[in-house]
Amino acid sequence: MFSHPRPSVNQTLSLQEVQGELEITLKREDQIHSDISGNKWRKLKYNFQHAKQNGHQSVLTFGGAFSNHLAAVATAGHQYGFQTHGIVRGEELETQTLNPTLQYCTQKGMALHFVSRTLYINKKQALASVIIDDKNPYVIPEGGTNALAVNGCAEILTSADKEFDTIAVAVGTGGTMAGLIQSTSDHQHLVGFQVVKDIEIPSRIRTFVSNDRWSLVPTYDAVGYAKSPKALIDFAHSVAGQTGVILDPLYTAPMLWHLIKKWKENTWNFGNRLLMIHTGGHQSIKGINQRLAQQGSSLRWPC
Ligand SMILES: *Cc1c(COP(=O)(O)O)cnc(C)c1O
Repeated sequence: MFSHPRPSVNQTLSLQEVQGELEITLKREDQIHSDISGNKWRKLKYNFQHAKQNGHQSVLTFGGAFSNHLAAVATAGHQYGFQTHGIVRGEELETQTLNPTLQYCTQKGMALHFVSRTLYINKKQALASVIIDDKNPYVIPEGGTNALAVNGCAEILTSADKEFDTIAVAVGTGGTMAGLIQSTSDHQHLVGFQVVKDIEIPSRIRTFVSNDRWSLVPTYDAVGYAKSPKALIDFAHSVAGQTGVILDPLYTAPMLWHLIKKWKENTWNFGNRLLMIHTGGHQSIKGINQRLAQQGSSLRWPC
């Protein structure tokens, strides 16, 4: 059950964007599992173990149209023998051709339940509005953040990573960051690049961690969430060409892009022995590229 993934390796990036002056080491969590995006595997590991041990037959969760979390739950359910249910934000999606993420979820056997954006805000109401046979599904919150997920993410850093003074990660709900903070040493500081506006992130993180060796840096004003501006796409191509690393459009590309921007502007106030976590997220690229094509753009995300 939840067999060990491939180990994640640290890769040093030498980027012309920073003329080799800022050394960035990338932890390749995107490579630990072939089908479940890096941090999502970490977050689901103990949740699926718990669901199995407690005799649940199905797993239910929530997500938007491009959600890496939904795709990860669908994959894990398929692999470990659970029926999965996804409550999806946006009732209009039900009548449209499913985007690649949602198509993938159904291929993995996930039953999708579309609810209106208004209903989706209140997860209890959204849950009450859908009809499923299993009266006792194991429910994982949107984005997968709970105590078990945080424990899984506390296993990302290894003792060899103590050489770094700053650790950077992209933040959606904050669960991955909370796990990383839990496992840092006194001399290390965690910087979370916050890709969506969510005022509850700091308090959510504080429910899981008791030290304050962490800071949040918002990227959503500069980049927007899931917007894929041309500058960001060009940057992703540049990084892929120089290093072979494919960044994802929603999390890791905005993080590295924003970091370099701050470094160039001299507003990077954190350390220079930097470890950046590549949390994966490649599954969203197909959908983003499809949307770019539909918008008549000739730009494509590298893949
Ligand atoms: C979900 C996700 C994140 C954010 O994780 P949280 O624990 O919700 O903050 C970061 N990167 C990628 C690639 C993701 O899929």
